Amino acid sequence: MPLIKAETEVIIIGAGPAGAGASWFLSKYEIPHIVIEKETFPRDKVCGDACSGKTALVINRANPAWLTEILNNETAFLPSWGITFAAPNGKLLDIPFAPARTPATRAPGFTVPRMVFDDFLFSKMASPFTTLFQSAQVREINREGDKITVKMSQGQQDYEITAPLIIGADGDKSLVAKKLFPVNNPPKSYAVGLRAYYKGVTGMHAEHYIELHFLPEMLPGYLWIFPLPGGMANVGAGILSEKIRSKKINLRELMLNAIKNNPQIAPRFANASLEGGIQGWGLPMAMGQRPLSGDNFMLTGDAASLIDPFSGEGIGNALYSGMLAAAAVKEAKAQNNYGAAMLKVAYDDVVYKRLGPEFMVSATLQRLCNYPWLFNLVVNKAHKSRSLRDTISCMFSDMDLRKQLARPSFYFKILFNR
Ligand SMILES: Cc1cc2nc3c(=O)[nH]c(=O)nc-3n(C[C@H](O)[C@H](O)[C@H](O)COP(=O)(O)OP(=O)(O)OC[C@H]3O[C@@H](n4cnc5c(N)ncnc54)[C@H](O)[C@@H]3O)c2cc1C
Repeated sequence: MPLIKAETEVIIIGAGPAGAGASWFLSKYEIPHIVIEKETFPRDKVCGDACSGKTALVINRANPAWLTEILNNETAFLPSWGITFAAPNGKLLDIPFAPARTPATRAPGFTVPRMVFDDFLFSKMASPFTTLFQSAQVREINREGDKITVKMSQGQQDYEITAPLIIGADGDKSLVAKKLFPVNNPPKSYAVGLRAYYKGVTGMHAEHYIELHFLPEMLPGYLWIFPLPGGMANVGAGILSEKIRSKKINLRELMLNAIKNNPQIAPRFANASLEGGIQGWGLPMAMGQRPLSGDNFMLTGDAASLIDPFSGEGIGNALYSGMLAAAAVKEAKAQNNYGAAMLKVAYDDVVYKRLGPEFMVSATLQRLCNYPWLFNLVVNKAHKSRSLRDTISCMFSDMDLRKQLARPSFYFKILFNR
């Protein structure tokens, strides 16, 4: 078959949350683009399947009707109203996401298997400005002068696509980053995560709180139990790669051991069954400010290492960075300038201005998890103090309040009951 050559304004590699976010907003700005995805939707992605308020925010900004569609479909998207922390001493602390809630308040978060969620996001990419290729193999990515050329194939057909800009939304093992990112960037900070689906786990919160269990043997990581629609649960564990290496941890063994023997967790799995296998995947985390773009390219989501270093949340940040990348494209197009200096100001600086403060707080929290006694202290005090529980609750939506968590004075006050 003869090679098909095409030109467009933006090429997006990857159609997960980051690619979807970029594509939706490019369509809003009426900027034609081509999306190249190697898998065929619906496709799975190893994940905890928990979507936060940031995910809801971007979807709502793209199209409020899409968020309504999600929140009205509780059989597919389970609304979640809060989070349960289990401290290293086993004490549980329930924190609602929306403490001052009225009957009109919508659930701030939800859980949904990525098989379903990413297919939903993908279905919303259809637009007159989007050309979508699924099941496509990217063969080459080259930058010549001020143009990017991608050679790819779909079935027997070969394509050569040219654009002034490429967005890498191709996840943790990004080909775009490998090809275009300078080699002297700071090393990535990684965690490793395992995910399993269980049926029949008991003892879930009536309002579908997600649960983080900070077991002493997993610190500064944790085991999670997230309720899913249909009586299913996403159960997994995540821990820093450097801890796995230095302490020679077998995460799978730790996780299964907790499910079998931990006195708080094991009884809840007495009649539960594992559905499918236990799968692992990397979490590239936002520690420090790595460059996110360069001449004629931007990286988004996991390709840009934008996972929250404490919570492990990456879906919301992927969608959010995709949205910001589209806004940067709009600006670059208006100035007809796709150079590194321009993209740094229009994209990197904006991402770090919006997300940088929460990354800093989360990095501090992750380090504090190395001190289980401090964690136990906060949970013990919060048990007794309604106002501390309310403060922690408000921290989910109020960034200024959340910054307190990174200050020694916060813990000093708790310690001395001030
Ligand atoms: C164990 C685990 C648990 C997690 N739990 C949560 C959680 O509960 N909540 C949360 O918010 N985040 C969680 N995360 C993080 C979250 O999964 C990621 O941050 C999120 O998926 C990033 O989205 P993305 O679009 O950047 O990348 P991806 O979701 O990885 O999407 C990338 C897309 O690019 C495609 N692609 C890759 N290479 C190519 C190529 N060469 N050509 C074409 N297409 C390509 C892939 O097929 C894929 O569709 C978890 C991660 C792990 C590993």
